[in-house]
Amino acid sequence: MKGIYANIIVDISHEKVDRPFQYRVPEELLGQLEVGMSVMIPFGKGNKLIKGYVMELTDTPEYEVSKIKQVASVVAGGVSAQTDSIKLAWWIKEHYGSTMIAALKTVLPVKQKMKQVVKKTVCCLVDSDTAFLKSEEFERKHQTAKARLMRELSMQSTLPQLLVTGKLNVTTQTIRSLEQAGLVEVIEENVYRSALPDTTSNRWAVGGKKQLSEEQQAVVDGIIEEYRQGIRDTYLVRGVTGSGKTEVYMELIEQVIALGKQAIVLIPEIALTYQTLLRFYQRFGDRVSVMNSKLSPGERSDQFERAKKGEIDIMIGPRSALFTPFERLGLIIIDEEHEASYKSETMPKYHAREVAKEICRMHKASLLLGSATPSLEAYFRAKEGTIKLFELNNRLAGGELPTVYIEDLREELKQGNRSIFSRRLKELLQDRLQKGQQSMLFLNRRGFAGFVSCRACGHVMKCPHCDVSLSEHKNGKLVCHYCGYETPQVTKCPECGSKYILGFRAGTQQIEEMLLKEFPTARVLRMDADTTKNKDSYEKILSQFANEEADILVGTQMIVKGHDFPKVTLVGVIAADMSLHVGDYRAAERTFQLLTQAAGRAGRSTLPGEVVIQTYQPEHYAVVHAAKQDYEGFYEEEIAYRDLMMYPPVANMMAILVLSNDELMGMTHASELVDTMKQQFKEERLSVIGPASASIGKINDIYRSIIYVKHRDYAMLVKVKDAMEALIEQKGWNADTVQFDFNPMSAY
Ligand code: ADP
Ligand code: ZN
Ligand code: ZN
Repeated sequence: MKGIYANIIVDISHEKVDRPFQYRVPEELLGQLEVGMSVMIPFGKGNKLIKGYVMELTDTPEYEVSKIKQVASVVAGGVSAQTDSIKLAWWIKEHYGSTMIAALKTVLPVKQKMKQVVKKTVCCLVDSDTAFLKSEEFERKHQTAKARLMRELSMQSTLPQLLVTGKLNVTTQTIRSLEQAGLVEVIEENVYRSALPDTTSNRWAVGGKKQLSEEQQAVVDGIIEEYRQGIRDTYLVRGVTGSGKTEVYMELIEQVIALGKQAIVLIPEIALTYQTLLRFYQRFGDRVSVMNSKLSPGERSDQFERAKKGEIDIMIGPRSALFTPFERLGLIIIDEEHEASYKSETMPKYHAREVAKEICRMHKASLLLGSATPSLEAYFRAKEGTIKLFELNNRLAGGELPTVYIEDLREELKQGNRSIFSRRLKELLQDRLQKGQQSMLFLNRRGFAGFVSCRACGHVMKCPHCDVSLSEHKNGKLVCHYCGYETPQVTKCPECGSKYILGFRAGTQQIEEMLLKEFPTARVLRMDADTTKNKDSYEKILSQFANEEADILVGTQMIVKGHDFPKVTLVGVIAADMSLHVGDYRAAERTFQLLTQAAGRAGRSTLPGEVVIQTYQPEHYAVVHAAKQDYEGFYEEEIAYRDLMMYPPVANMMAILVLSNDELMGMTHASELVDTMKQQFKEERLSVIGPASASIGKINDIYRSIIYVKHRDYAMLVKVKDAMEALIEQKGWNADTVQFDFNPMSAY
């Protein structure tokens, strides 16, 4: 390819021209243009010269050659500030399959110049008596507005400015003159900070540094020594909750900043709590900025602007904070790296861990992953030697590991106990109620879990081809989410002949009801998708529970993520099987993580903790190893299964989702894709599964067909994806109707 044509995206701040336009590369520039370079091009009817970015170089003209305009010149310097972002978008597009526009929008915040939302607060600088005296003094001088404000402030030392200028009818001019007199101060907070409770000032004290333990120091030294030698690498810290990972992150950041660099810290949104942020603010003051998903695109772009100007050194946030345009990026940290939320659910379906690695490569930065239960991906790489592993084995804030009981629900049935609660769980709940200690009951239900199992022997109906659980469908059949294998619903257990074989369904609400039946005086709080619909309800329920306004908290996995309740001494997992049999290859991994986290909730302080895991499959390795908090043991068994079945991370897997508003057409397109890939990649030993109807076969009247392709090599799957994209283009199908997902987090 010589690159006779350049596909150029013009000034991205204009939404309407947010697509590439094709230009001819003039003779004198042939071979000189690169993706990401900024160039001047004639645009529109008037051929006004404007700036654009080279997205792609190609020899294929997209329209009539005589009509293609020519690139005017390369912008002085050639490389623009956004080159990195554009290169990254390109990498994402290639690596995950999406349109360039979608990739660009992921990487660059849409610039919409809008007023920054700041919250202004009028703060009284004198004590309340003085304020009152002042108000009387103003009164005597007939300065009634000033008198009004000071009187209010004598009762309440801070007031929102909107209230002052509104309800109190005091002009900003008056406020300013009081400010000049040294009586009040107006403090401006951006929206995020104002969301933090109890903070009337944005001037944060710098401090809160701890003397690191030997273990912690070893991690910091190990990474920093390499860093100083110019080595940039990927590191994994495996350390149980409370082992001091966050403290290690902060120390590393401080040292990296001292070397003139900047850092990005990714934390799952749900763990972006006030306490965590406060620790960063206390240590780094206003060199820290925080992003969250509630920010508008404009606010997000403002944050990025500050980062680009070098006004901050640290950006904390969920997945999208990854794209902070630091010019001196030195370190990216991903906390709780195993969390599913690091994978994008919309196109392009990128994984933050992988994109972070690419960003680090581009910027010569280091990447640090942290988790108590690392993803199989990360640990596999650590074993392979491509990631350096560190461990933190001791809890710093004290607290012994809890005693874990595995309760066999089959046995309960045999003994005539048909309730949701095993005898041991009931007994221990009763005990805690008597002692005035708190309990948490956890339903590890995840999405669509329609598996069918035998209550008598624990047998689970599985796909003979994919070794994942079959799901009960409305049509009365049992279906495999991967390959579409179907078998009629069974009425008797094929293993033991019991008639107690059925789909397992229980919601948090039912558990709450049964709890109240069993323990009528217990105060029960429930946290799930229903009770947390409102904006603040999540925090509210947590703080109610923390304030001991309830004895038992019932909830989904929301309740197990990183909250410390010192009075919780009992954690019950209602049915470990619920996440064990969701019909995708990550089910055991997720169950292990959830059970380990749940167990970690009990006995966080001096009171000893107990954990009850109820299950129909007490012998399942995810359950057994979680109960022992034995990550290594779990990993060995799980990786053997992945290897055998050619699942990630040993092999790679690409899901292709085909959408259509016509069921037949969707299936036909999917079949064409499968036929083409089987033919084109005959030699490559691809393992192609499907097409099948997705587990949710229709959403909003759009039919969904799914294809899975497995191969050892990621690069081979990218080639298959490219070939499929070419086919889609050649057939003239709408590009949006076919979505790619590499190493998907769950079954479709
Ligand atoms: P993790 O991120 O692994 O859960 P944290 O960094 O939050 O662990 O540490 C857990 C608790 O231990 C916190 O209360 C923290 O303040 C405290 N801590 C961490 N490191 C030290 C240390 N070196 N000395 C004393 N306390 C520490
Ligand atoms: Zn059975
Ligand atoms: Zn199957």
